[in-house]
Amino acid sequence: MFRRLSLVWLCAISLALALCVLVAGSTSLLQARQAAPEAVNGWRHKLGAGLSGVARSSDRVRYLAWLRHLSVALDSGKQLGNFECRVRFTLDGSSQETFLVRFPTDLEAQALQKELESRSPVGLGDFQGYVFNYYDKGATVSASGPVYSLDKNVFVLRAAGEVVRVVDGVLQHVATTAMMLFEPADRGAAAAALQKLGYTSQTTRWNEMGAIYDELRLPRYRLALFREAPALAVAPDRVTVFLRHDIDRTLYGALAMGREERRRGLCSSYFVNMASSLYGLVGPGGQYMVRDGAVEDLLELQAMGHEIGYHTDILMMALFYDTPFRPWLDRELGRLRRAGVRLVSQAEHGSFHTHEIKSHNSYSFTNFRHNGGLRHGGLEATAPNGFDGVVRYERKGVAQSFSIPDVQLKDVGIEVSAYVVTAALGFTPRQWRYIPDQMLFQGKSPSDMLELLRQAEPGDVVEVLMHPVHWTVTDPAFDLGGDAADAQ
Ligand SMILES: [Zn+2]
Repeated sequence: MFRRLSLVWLCAISLALALCVLVAGSTSLLQARQAAPEAVNGWRHKLGAGLSGVARSSDRVRYLAWLRHLSVALDSGKQLGNFECRVRFTLDGSSQETFLVRFPTDLEAQALQKELESRSPVGLGDFQGYVFNYYDKGATVSASGPVYSLDKNVFVLRAAGEVVRVVDGVLQHVATTAMMLFEPADRGAAAAALQKLGYTSQTTRWNEMGAIYDELRLPRYRLALFREAPALAVAPDRVTVFLRHDIDRTLYGALAMGREERRRGLCSSYFVNMASSLYGLVGPGGQYMVRDGAVEDLLELQAMGHEIGYHTDILMMALFYDTPFRPWLDRELGRLRRAGVRLVSQAEHGSFHTHEIKSHNSYSFTNFRHNGGLRHGGLEATAPNGFDGVVRYERKGVAQSFSIPDVQLKDVGIEVSAYVVTAALGFTPRQWRYIPDQMLFQGKSPSDMLELLRQAEPGDVVEVLMHPVHWTVTDPAFDLGGDAADAQ
């Protein structure tokens, strides 16, 4: 077996290590070790223990695995946040349905490098991932390359790509290489291995989510997408439900929910925060980049029958990162549309930063400002800063005033706003009800959400908000890969 091979290769650093070379922007493992040995070793150790998964295939050609590690911590105690990645590979035929996926140890990587020199690739693979955070605090990784066959049905991906993050105020693209090992396992062994690592596809919260989904499948409910609101006819005998998900912190958790909804015959609307590292990175001075693979992930959600909308955070980006307001909206919403995303709805993100200055992303659009015609709750009273079109705030200790450009929702192709979906409806509901999962942090439980749903009466219109993060990866045991084969 390859594990016993001699050890030569010092160049192949794993993705884990490449990502962790956070210490001074260094690309070299050796340099990083010199700079902060404990930090690097701590990261290495914890990723080594946690970052594994199972790849499955229904056709024994295309394989997919989802890996995650919650709150990766350095020895210093600094939390880096949730790390998630997707691994895909295609083999030229294999007898194996299931593989265990993991990063090789340093010693194994050195041995593998020598071993691969004499072999020809039999497949191709890639991985995409990110360390979650907003704006300039996150990190993304993407890499791809050939897959080689070793003995006994063991395969290895040798990928090259880049890690991107903001260093000293500059979006830095660092070239990286990484290897992944695919070791054969039958389904039972794979499940047991995952369990041993502490992962399960049946967390309590996930099952509670399933109970809400079961309720929504009853004939008394009619599920609608936000984009359908203007054309929706009145349904006096049924409760109309808009099922909304704001993707702030986990895109792969959202995909897991999307797959589960499709399995149960449900469709819903996913609003993507494009200033979160799950989608891209925001740097100062208007810098912006999109993570490879994120658009593809959203198209996958859409292909399941779900709606993709924009989780608006542009005012925040303009105020604190000098993002060119209207150009960004045109360029980035345009990027999604050109890729095939049917994007006509939005829901404003309640950013911590705008909250601090008593402002709100709703004011990104003139429609929500003074005399604009739409009202997002009582924002003009609780977050009045910007309601008149000017945000007055402090940045790095200096008083600022930002005049928000006049952009109407329709100017950037938005037809429906989730917080005021009743304004878009072609009929007047008997009653409007809003059931957000933020109530889980105010002493309520998922069964309280279920109860509120049951209290709705025919003719009512209900909006249920479920953030993917609260139902999936918040639980350290949640296994993103529980149903990976399904996604292909
Ligand atoms: Zn949000």
